[in-house]
Amino acid sequence: MMHSMLRSGRNAYEDVETLPELPEVEIIRRQLEKELAGARIAACEVGLPRLVTYPTPLGYRRGLKGRRVEGVGRRGKYLLIGLDDGHELVIHLGMTGSLVLAEPAGERPRHTHIVFHLEDGRDLLYVDPRTFGETALLRPGDRSPLRGLYAMGPEPLEKNFTCAVLEDSLRGKCRVKSALLDQSRVAGIGNIYADESLHRAGIDPLRRLDGLTPDEIERIHRAVREVLSEAILRGGSSVSDYIDLRGERGSFQDSHRVYRREGERCPSCGGTIRREVISGRSSYFCPNCQK
Ligand SMILES: [Zn+2]
Repeated sequence: MMHSMLRSGRNAYEDVETLPELPEVEIIRRQLEKELAGARIAACEVGLPRLVTYPTPLGYRRGLKGRRVEGVGRRGKYLLIGLDDGHELVIHLGMTGSLVLAEPAGERPRHTHIVFHLEDGRDLLYVDPRTFGETALLRPGDRSPLRGLYAMGPEPLEKNFTCAVLEDSLRGKCRVKSALLDQSRVAGIGNIYADESLHRAGIDPLRRLDGLTPDEIERIHRAVREVLSEAILRGGSSVSDYIDLRGERGSFQDSHRVYRREGERCPSCGGTIRREVISGRSSYFCPNCQK
């Protein structure tokens, strides 16, 4: 169950990107952890109630009031903010969501929909022009409200994500590109990092899983981990609205080899990069290097 499936009623956005992906969310997580650990939430304002998936907007506001942030985790593209009463504040930035740490006197950006007032005087703003994001306040151990979160596949940057784990995730007959986008198979990968990983691995995105050799899976495994790690080091990819907590853009988009480079030369072989729609999403690849 992917997050996008939960939102299928509003899912007609073939060429619009599901940013941020794992690297961008991880960067925000690290910054949030640094800025928020130990901070107390004095109050919360919800300007757009439908962004609150669980419980009710009122229950959400009441539940957050007075809570202290213990730590900030991540699962796939979800931010998980641990609170002192055991609840978890979950935030998914959707396609265009961002979090901004602001001084209360400062001007609020347009499309600020949720404001977390911190006791120390700062405000954490949830800003989202297209409002595909969501947030929830989950009780300890209650997994029902966000099923997609708990049906999530392994985390590709964790130590225990071995080649054997990936091989297990890539069973079946679907196309390898679709499989990499499926959050229940591997967590956190979206269109950008699937395309970049497959190019680096030299695998045609249209290939079917049951035809992949162990060597090819090993190449995908290495490529996924390299591409995601490099993207984090480069501040993520800012191809549309992505900015980090400090309002800064990433620079990994400059290193994209195929993503959104249709008609350009492949940096590896000089061939022409092509675009093809797979599972309703544009895929960019080099037919020459990717077999
Ligand atoms: Zn090429």
